[in-house]
Amino acid sequence: TLKKSLGQNFLVDANILNNIVQAAAIDAESFVLEIGPGAGALTQILAAHAKKVVAIEIDRRLEPILSETLQEFNNVSLHFGDVLKIDLDAILRKEFPPDAPVIVVANLPYYVTTPILMKLLMPNMPFCRIVVMIQKEVAARLEAHPGEKSYGSLSIAVQYLADASIVLTVPKTVFMPQPNVDSAVIRLDVRKDKKVAVADEAFFFRLVRASFAQRRKTLLNNLMNNLFSKNEKDAIQAVLEEQGVDPGRRGETLTIEEYARLSDALQYLDKK
Ligand code: SAM
Repeated sequence: TLKKSLGQNFLVDANILNNIVQAAAIDAESFVLEIGPGAGALTQILAAHAKKVVAIEIDRRLEPILSETLQEFNNVSLHFGDVLKIDLDAILRKEFPPDAPVIVVANLPYYVTTPILMKLLMPNMPFCRIVVMIQKEVAARLEAHPGEKSYGSLSIAVQYLADASIVLTVPKTVFMPQPNVDSAVIRLDVRKDKKVAVADEAFFFRLVRASFAQRRKTLLNNLMNNLFSKNEKDAIQAVLEEQGVDPGRRGETLTIEEYARLSDALQYLDKK
């Protein structure tokens, strides 16, 4: 029996499976990491196209099913454990040649989408491309641009490191059992260089989160209430104006570049 708590909604549509593998641009030289192989439906197609596939699955009960589905392939290596806790560096070092670019392909468990993506986007990781099925609303947030309803701190955290584009949206009916939400496949092309350079990355992300804390409030109000204090109103206002950002704008209208500029200018106020 499948476990709902582990996000076990298996893909049963061969067309969609093929579309995912195509969007990931996998060829006979590709090294692939799959998260959550489940019963191996996607793993099979990946193995047929790639040089090597490494798959990490949390649920050990799937081991006999997986070894049956994958018995005709000798280029698949299975690991059992929680991808968020397992020593991913050690697995990658053991399984793939040093410095080889690795493509991540997965139909992700939706309850841990964001922590998994954040782990995959860590700076020391070898991933060049991440193509994953996720909840449609989350995909919209990853892809969103300034002024759009879904634009928020998650959009900025991801787009700071990767170019995001939705490849296709998918109805519930292609899963067994059907999830409660619609899905989408998103492709993240990880950049070698970050989109912007900031002096203090931790402060940059605190600034972004504070700016979106209350979406309907102005930037000035959000920064006063969620990052600095009321006493610093005039100082914040002066920095915003100096940087050419109207303090009455809302956080959702600022580009990553504007946040980077503000981060470098406001960090001194933070450290006072
Ligand atoms: N790849 C299969 C497919 O497309 O049919 C299954 C996808 S299903 C949406 C998600 C899979 O991730 C399940 O097999 C589940 O057991 C596994 N999983 C859930 N949480 C996990 C975790 N923290 N680490 C590794 N795998 C996990």
